[in-house]
Amino acid sequence: MPLSARRPERAHNRTLSLSTFGHGGEMPIDQLAQTGIGPDAAYEVISSELLLDGQSRLNLATFVTTWMPSAGARLMADTADKNMIDKDEYPQTALIESRCVNILADLWGSPESEHATGCSTTGSSEAAMLAGLALKWRWRERAQAAGRPTDRPNLVMGVNVQVCWEKFCRYWEVEPRLVPMEGDTYHLTPERAVAHCDENTIGVVAILGSTFDGSYEPVREISDALDALEADRGLHVPMHVDAASGGFVAPFIDRGLEWDFRLPRVQSINASGHKYGLVYPGVGWAIWRDEAALPRDLVFDVNYLGGHMPTFSLNFSRPGSEVIAQYFMLTSLGREGFTELMEGLRETAMRISRGVSELGPYRLISDGSQLPVFAFALDSDVTNYTEFDVSDRLRERGWLVPAYTFPPNRQDLSVLRVVVRSGMHPEMADQLLFDLRAITEQLQALDAPLPRPLASSTQAFAH
Ligand SMILES: *Cc1c(COP(=O)(O)O)cnc(C)c1O
Repeated sequence: MPLSARRPERAHNRTLSLSTFGHGGEMPIDQLAQTGIGPDAAYEVISSELLLDGQSRLNLATFVTTWMPSAGARLMADTADKNMIDKDEYPQTALIESRCVNILADLWGSPESEHATGCSTTGSSEAAMLAGLALKWRWRERAQAAGRPTDRPNLVMGVNVQVCWEKFCRYWEVEPRLVPMEGDTYHLTPERAVAHCDENTIGVVAILGSTFDGSYEPVREISDALDALEADRGLHVPMHVDAASGGFVAPFIDRGLEWDFRLPRVQSINASGHKYGLVYPGVGWAIWRDEAALPRDLVFDVNYLGGHMPTFSLNFSRPGSEVIAQYFMLTSLGREGFTELMEGLRETAMRISRGVSELGPYRLISDGSQLPVFAFALDSDVTNYTEFDVSDRLRERGWLVPAYTFPPNRQDLSVLRVVVRSGMHPEMADQLLFDLRAITEQLQALDAPLPRPLASSTQAFAH
């Protein structure tokens, strides 16, 4: 069953003409051809078709890496044949994975950084499933020990969580307690987190780097508030930090910010290696504070050089090249390299956001001073066009800058968002501002609202 929405292709697209490529004939596209066209022709056909995807580096919607040094890309191609799960056959790849785990645990202030507990995943979504399961298992142990029922677990988080947490809740039967946005606060606050907790709360998820506006949630303050809750009412609620983006930013340029294992309440952290970890998709990381934070019965052993290697994952086979590429980025940049790069991205983000605020009709929702990501909205007196129209006009120039509506209780607010990533050099930033200025001037010159059938409608946008 194709899970993609059924978008009927135009009738004449049911076959692909090969004449452009110096071949005669046609090729069916939804059925396997009787005779293949061979690797060279297949390469031509498929790489030509993919041109329609557009330029990934102009995709300012994604957090995911779209540029790597060519040596890194080469190393990935060289190692695409290694299966991560074959610890026995590829012991060195397995070792490299555990080095990455140790490095990240150390960057995130783990007390056991040389033998840290953690694993690579396909991304933060898988890492969220694993960390969420560990929270659920531990809550159940505590509830059983206290003779309390174990049938109604809940997880407390801001409504701005990435969809993976709603998935976790649905797949593993945990009630999602999504704390709404109020006023000008677009993420979880300590008071509201605590107000949603009870004895069935398996944990609170705090996000280091909200996808909606790039802001950091106040992890330390949420932890303090949960300390107070424990002291007052005896409720023990652990925390998980979803640092999908911030996990590779804050350790380098916000070193004074306490958001990680320095806070005893933080039991686990995830990050996406393929976001600010600077690797092509898909690699993520899940790290637990210590062995005690990960229940043993979630861990499986695979055979490893005649011994046993513990694994915790939802998948079995997956490419080793991702993990090797992560080690490559860590090795090639080092602390200084990461710091310099992240400083540069933050500077660029703040420079663009300043430029946007100076254009006139926009106000900043965030300015890129936390994640190098910012969101902006039109002033309420702009009625002739919307953020969605601006997004469409930018797309005509090749820029993908999404517009989307905020979740409850701020569905009245629509924004545009720019994610600044490695590979966006200052000239690109200037060009973006230049194009946005030109588009804004055109739209400001409208003397009546864009007719709605022509104007863009509110589209769903997956964060
Ligand atoms: C991107 C993101 C995720 C999902 O990460 P993947 O690596 O794409 O699976 C989860 N949480 C946050 C905060 C994110 O930004």
